[in-house]
Amino acid sequence: MTDTTVEDVETFRLRARTWLADNMPKVDPDAAPPPPGDDDEEWAKARELQKLLHGGGFAGICFPREYGGLGLGSEFQEAFTQEAEGYQMPLLLNVPTFSICAPTILDMGSEDQKRERISAAIRGDEVLVQFLSEPSGGSDLAGLITRADRDGDTWVINGAKTWSTSAYAADYALCLARTDWNAPKHRGLTMFLMPTDTPGITMRRITQVNGSTEFCEEFFDDVVLPGSAVVGEVNGGWAVASRQLFHERTAVGGGSPYVSGRGTGRVATPKTDLVEVARATGRNGESGVRELVGEAHAKERVQEQLIRRVTRGITSGAMPPPAASIMRLFHAETDWLVDDYAVSIAGAAGVTGVSGDPSDPGVGGRVAVNYLMRQGASLGGGSSEMSRNIISERILGMPREFAADRDVPFNQVKRGPS
Ligand SMILES: Cc1cc2nc3c(=O)[nH]c(=O)nc-3n(C[C@H](O)[C@H](O)[C@H](O)COP(=O)(O)OP(=O)(O)OC[C@H]3O[C@@H](n4cnc5c(N)ncnc54)[C@H](O)[C@@H]3O)c2cc1C
Repeated sequence: MTDTTVEDVETFRLRARTWLADNMPKVDPDAAPPPPGDDDEEWAKARELQKLLHGGGFAGICFPREYGGLGLGSEFQEAFTQEAEGYQMPLLLNVPTFSICAPTILDMGSEDQKRERISAAIRGDEVLVQFLSEPSGGSDLAGLITRADRDGDTWVINGAKTWSTSAYAADYALCLARTDWNAPKHRGLTMFLMPTDTPGITMRRITQVNGSTEFCEEFFDDVVLPGSAVVGEVNGGWAVASRQLFHERTAVGGGSPYVSGRGTGRVATPKTDLVEVARATGRNGESGVRELVGEAHAKERVQEQLIRRVTRGITSGAMPPPAASIMRLFHAETDWLVDDYAVSIAGAAGVTGVSGDPSDPGVGGRVAVNYLMRQGASLGGGSSEMSRNIISERILGMPREFAADRDVPFNQVKRGPS
């Protein structure tokens, strides 16, 4: 591999351009819409593409060299991503493996965890996911009730998790569990690195309205983990989870420096294109429709600039890490606006225009499915309401939301049936 420590961004870009042209398969613009991200072949392909990037010396651009990366700045990653436009990339690995889990391990994990898990992911050998949300609720993450009990040198986990993106395709999960029931809720949690094939884990797939089964739910019955599975400190899991949520909000907002190529590869229904909707419904000449398309276009451009500004602000220290919630919230607002305008433009065709072909529901069908799916944008990575709470409390300095369970030992907190 070339010694990248002496290379400037433009030289790196040119080297990447040549290497991509010689080694990476092109995206076929005429190919059928991509299958849902839960397709096993797609996962095998993502791992292969990652191995190609690694073999070529272009994997893990912003991860430190000692953990298998290139140790370069985000401007190198951005240059690579720009050059990679039009080539197939291992996008399925972008979220949560590279943008959320690996950076969390980098920030909070033990030396062994960093050396083993991060480098295995960069090599394309391992997929990492998150076991955070529970059936009893995801917004109040610190109120979770999956338990981990110490048994000699090991931990025994019992409980349930849900909404775990791509867990069925994963090798390891970052799993948050309660280890001290006498402490207030934030202080009795511990983060574990859990191999997803550990005996005692039952995993089921959840079918979404767009047909995807990428979400999973997991049930833990006496799952035994070694002491070395703890990430960070025992009962210090909230610090790890907070870092993880920071990376998640940055990733969902579109500002992670750890991903190659744009997007997540999970496009069961292609994103709504308002120009296409306007043309397909014959309304592209109407001034009112053109205004809607223009407004959405402007909002998307503002989103791009906002991502740059906030990412730079957090990196330089000018903005606090909770500012990632601004990107996260704007992402959801933009998604909602585009999908709402698509329904306004498509009118009845957005409900009745389904083609009958499940692999391509037609423009009307896509508008309808994306409208139903838009709720996901305001839930994934923490809900929009929680983002607003964070912005108001931790950035604008407004009073904290009332919490009846603050500083109360968790075993004395009143809870509904779970
Ligand atoms: C695309 C996507 C991917 C996801 N991937 C994962 C994953 O990989 N791993 C994982 O563990 N989870 C994942 N999740 C789950 C996600 O983290 C939760 O959906 C989210 O945290 C909200 O939790 P909940 O769905 O239980 O809603 P709840 O917490 O039950 O909230 C329901 C509603 O009440 C509102 N609400 C709750 N508390 C407050 C409050 N204090 N103030 C104001 N409003 C409030 C919420 O905003 C929401 O609108 C994913 C979700 C989506 C949509």
